[in-house]
Amino acid sequence: MPCAICKTAKAKRFCPGIREDICTACCGVGRERTIDCPLTCEYLAEAHRHEKQLPADPDAMPGKDIPIDEDFLHTNQYLIVLLTSAMFGGAKSHANALDSDAVTALESLVTTYRTLNSGLFYEAKPVNPIAADMFDAVNACVEDIRRRIREAESGPQLPDSVVLNVLVFLQRMAFGLNNGRPKCKAFLVFLSQFYTDLKQAEEEVAEEPKVIL
Ligand SMILES: [Zn+2]
Repeated sequence: MPCAICKTAKAKRFCPGIREDICTACCGVGRERTIDCPLTCEYLAEAHRHEKQLPADPDAMPGKDIPIDEDFLHTNQYLIVLLTSAMFGGAKSHANALDSDAVTALESLVTTYRTLNSGLFYEAKPVNPIAADMFDAVNACVEDIRRRIREAESGPQLPDSVVLNVLVFLQRMAFGLNNGRPKCKAFLVFLSQFYTDLKQAEEEVAEEPKVIL
């Protein structure tokens, strides 16, 4: 059977993006360019594993004014997982979500938290609906964490500056995973690995004593 794209080479794999059998060359050329690859595609995962990293321009690195060290990442690992999961939760109902949507959402979130951190309130919600959903999901997650902290009447507070640093860390992850393809989804795949449906998880343990963050 010939490839559904070039109609010439032998079809070697089922492409879940176009739902047809295609050849490996057309997969390589079309992947994240003309083909809207589902995050779960095994060939996409394989390609990301073998991606040749573009030489990242250090000047273009997001949030260069914010130092983030191993200690910060270690201390805040649970927060990072929660925000990462929330971010993916905002994207997951959009089958056509791209890394560029996540990058837009992060830019708006960083702008918002930089302003909050300076004592002002300014919500820079993105116009793009996919980015807007991711933006809302992350904000809702931060509010939820703060509500739990208040209800527990103890534990460390969650300052805007810590949220900001986690957001900058995520910006850098997206920056590092960008393979330059217009429909790149490497960062979304990364986010998806941390996704947990917290509401569902809580319903499952509803009878158990409340777990406080
Ligand atoms: Zn082909």
